[in-house]
Amino acid sequence: MVISCPCALVISIPVSFFLAISKAAKNRILIKGSIFLEMLAKVKTAIFDKTGTLTKGKFVIKEIYSFNLSKEEVLETICLAESKLNHPISKSIKEAYGKPLNLNRVENVKEIFGKGVKALVDKREVFVGNFKLLKEIGISSFEEDELGTNIHLVVEGKYCGKIVLQDEIKTNVEYALKNIKKNGVEKIVMLTGDKKVVGENVARNLNLDYVFCELLPYEKVEKLESFLKNRREKEIVAFIGDGVNDAASLKLADVGIAMGAIGSDAAMEACDVVLMDDDINKINIAILIAKRVVRTVKQNVVFSLSFKGLIFILGIFGLTNIWLAIFSDVGVSILAILNAFRAFKGKF
Ligand code: ADP
Ligand code: MG
Repeated sequence: MVISCPCALVISIPVSFFLAISKAAKNRILIKGSIFLEMLAKVKTAIFDKTGTLTKGKFVIKEIYSFNLSKEEVLETICLAESKLNHPISKSIKEAYGKPLNLNRVENVKEIFGKGVKALVDKREVFVGNFKLLKEIGISSFEEDELGTNIHLVVEGKYCGKIVLQDEIKTNVEYALKNIKKNGVEKIVMLTGDKKVVGENVARNLNLDYVFCELLPYEKVEKLESFLKNRREKEIVAFIGDGVNDAASLKLADVGIAMGAIGSDAAMEACDVVLMDDDINKINIAILIAKRVVRTVKQNVVFSLSFKGLIFILGIFGLTNIWLAIFSDVGVSILAILNAFRAFKGKF
């Protein structure tokens, strides 16, 4: 009875997972449960959102083009239409404009996900968004700049101009992605609602395996579903996003990893892992911690079961005594716990 007491497993396994979760928290990675640690250790496909995840999500204005209005008016109108939204594009435009806005001039704001926004500015109907939005409202005479995210302005059905925005790839992303591959991830994929040239340029710079551009939010979910459907058995698919227009994907993936600083509240709610400082390299630390905990738990299970098994067999033949039996219970428990502490000693 003493030998078969399962203390070593019942205590050391949760202790290992608690240690791993707290080690991750110290590294500013919040993991919502031990099941996600097990999954992180087995991620084979990592699917990234672009804006705010691989890129900074802080757009700078490269150029303003105007027709029928002044450049200042184009920027102001776009800014007013965007004023009530939280999209990285909206935030960046407001920041670039820099002046206080009279929000009373804006009414009936309606975000058109993956395309832009519709609003009443000074009682005039305004559309602000990408080429898809223009197509949808039947405007065909517009030009697109090669590189850069083009945000067009249409007032009362008339094309009035556009601003060209540029986003930067986050520092260290290339290095982080290389490490992610070294840590066992086989496929790195990027999904974006942005234009093909912009998305493919980012993908080329970062050496990604697959890129899918010009996707609407629901199409991102469909792409993720197809990756989930076509995977091999036991392969884990992770989705990494900032939650702007991709909360559904964070929820649907085996492991949803969200950006904690730039990310939305919906993202924090839908995800399984939060990177508090938006640093993609923290995914590597999370994977290393996950692999370490899985290995430690396996070591402890094998060690305690085989030790107990041995003492048990000796016991059957009357070759053991109560002290050896007590050691195989308490002693093995303490050794297993010490092994867990050893595994999470020091820095990651
Ligand atoms: P991503 O997939 O890169 O994170 P989103 O799905 O959020 O991007 O948006 C896709 C595209 O839709 C943007 O590149 C932009 O052209 C357009 N868009 C989305 N929201 C807005 C907005 N608030 N204002 C203007 N354009 C927008
Ligand atoms: Mg996004």
